[in-house]
Amino acid sequence: MHVPFCAVRCHYCHFSTAAFSGDAVERWFAGIEREADLRAPLADGVAFTSLFFGGGTPSALSSRHFRRLWDLLRARFTLAPDAEVTLEANPESAKDALLAAWREAGVNRLSFGAQSFEPSELRSLGRIHDEARPVEAVALARAHGFERLSLDLMYGYPGHTSAAFARTLARAGELGLEHVSAYCYIPEGVTPQGERALASGGPAVPDEAQAALYEQLSEAMEGMGLACYETSNFCRPDAESRHNLTYWLRRDYLALGPSAHACWRGERWGNRFATADWAAALERGEDPASERERSPEASTSDEIVMLGLRLSSGLRAADYAPSDWASVERRYGAAFAAAQEAGRLESVPGGWRIPRRHRFLADDTIAWLAARARG
Ligand code: SF4
Repeated sequence: MHVPFCAVRCHYCHFSTAAFSGDAVERWFAGIEREADLRAPLADGVAFTSLFFGGGTPSALSSRHFRRLWDLLRARFTLAPDAEVTLEANPESAKDALLAAWREAGVNRLSFGAQSFEPSELRSLGRIHDEARPVEAVALARAHGFERLSLDLMYGYPGHTSAAFARTLARAGELGLEHVSAYCYIPEGVTPQGERALASGGPAVPDEAQAALYEQLSEAMEGMGLACYETSNFCRPDAESRHNLTYWLRRDYLALGPSAHACWRGERWGNRFATADWAAALERGEDPASERERSPEASTSDEIVMLGLRLSSGLRAADYAPSDWASVERRYGAAFAAAQEAGRLESVPGGWRIPRRHRFLADDTIAWLAARARG
């Protein structure tokens, strides 16, 4: 569920966001209602095991708006009794009334965007909270009974140093979190920070420097008792994000809202990116998807390998339908053997994984395998 509104746009962000106003929220609600009506028949008889409110900034919605959204969804879709319900929140918007509304509705996991605990970095990233706010937000969420909390961090942006990252990781380590997502900075040309970073023509940050920061991150997470279960995600035992695993294990998911992407019964589609375009399509009675494809066997295998090898547990036959795994073996069998020979893959019972020392280079190994599979 993509909630596109943000108070201001962070300097590095290329997500689909929109300015917040009463009219904009009403138009978005009308669009969500139309799209929910359109998609709900696809999920007849399905009890969803995960619901994720992402953005944008879902916490930009008032408690009254959130209850309205919740009622709208629950009237059309079924949630499993033990469903994971996650909401992404910016630390500055975590207030008593909102936290109470989220808890009452059934949100059982919060993901706070912190990115850094360094005041100068927060300013240059364009974040509007100070370094104390995530700490207060976590304490407030705990006081409201939230037991599953995650924090988003970023590393490897221009000017990021190991010393500054150590201070951020130490502050994060004091929070007793169940989960941390830490993403390596990628300069996007359409953002102010990305434009600056790319202006020099060379790499914004050398790969070696980002790899060293990733190593520092991995060690700090281990020190916090959080194991890496996907390249960029760390958690306590049994605290993996079910939502994230849905993507990486290539399970079915539906999606609502501008720029939202779905993978459902062998078909993928992505909605129009801009909120106004998405809303206008629905107002005309059209499907808001701007791209749609049925996955042929080869691209299903490519996706399974590309997504599954990011998992620390590896790519395992037991996680897929036998016919899908047979396709993977047909297309990738020789490439897997060559990668093992080259030290890029190691075998695990019923599958393959990328060795820990190559984890940061997972995308590189995946591209290497895909080139050989296409052969
Ligand atoms: S709050 Fe999140 S979605 Fe909004 S601009 Fe910042 S990073 Fe992007």
